[in-house]
Amino acid sequence: MKECLMCKAPLRNEIRLSEIIRATPLINDPICQGCSNDFLDLADIPTCLGCGRKQTEGMSQPCRDCSRWQQSYPFNFSNCALYEYNQQMKDFMKQYKFNGDYYLRKVFSGQIHRQLKKCPDVIVPIPVGTDTMLTRGFNQVTGLLELVNYSNILKVKAKRKAVRQSEKNRRQRIELIQPFELIQSQKYLIENQSILLVDDVYTTGTTIRHAASLLYHAGATSVRGLTLAR
Ligand SMILES: [Zn+2]
Ligand SMILES: [Zn+2]
Repeated sequence: MKECLMCKAPLRNEIRLSEIIRATPLINDPICQGCSNDFLDLADIPTCLGCGRKQTEGMSQPCRDCSRWQQSYPFNFSNCALYEYNQQMKDFMKQYKFNGDYYLRKVFSGQIHRQLKKCPDVIVPIPVGTDTMLTRGFNQVTGLLELVNYSNILKVKAKRKAVRQSEKNRRQRIELIQPFELIQSQKYLIENQSILLVDDVYTTGTTIRHAASLLYHAGATSVRGLTLAR
């Protein structure tokens, strides 16, 4: 019998209510209903139109973080997130990324494939640096995209310039450093194209917005983001 990829409980053939309501074809789920219930799906609840976070009481639209980003990075960018970065997602990421359980990509790769198979945009994963590749052995983002047609266009700059000390606070300094560069031979893939950037987690938005900025400068018509979690 197949086991839940997360808790190892035997998987019964469960038909989910959502599948009955949406009349979607039955999908062999990689995780059990219990583990699945602990992820908070952001698809059916109000979220920030800028970053995809769950809308909470009193939150502006877009949220304050996104308003700030619009001032410092005045280009069109919005992110859609599939799940909230709650405890269950944090546990998943810890196991997947930091413990390096590569098979855990399968918890979401099927769903991401179904979501993106009709996406007309050029799909660009956020890359990981050489150090991460050496220690982790894989890029967690391209793992999630294993069934999707994506284009490797970005790479992490080999030598990060030392952060210049200044009066600015740490976060402001970090935001000034562009961590990525284009793979020059792939540049033609983005000129006049709509791009969907994919990352695992949207935390401060710094990573994905740096990547978006670079793609706009290289001639992309539009850049949007999709992250597994926010
Ligand atoms: Zn489970
Ligand atoms: Zn936001």
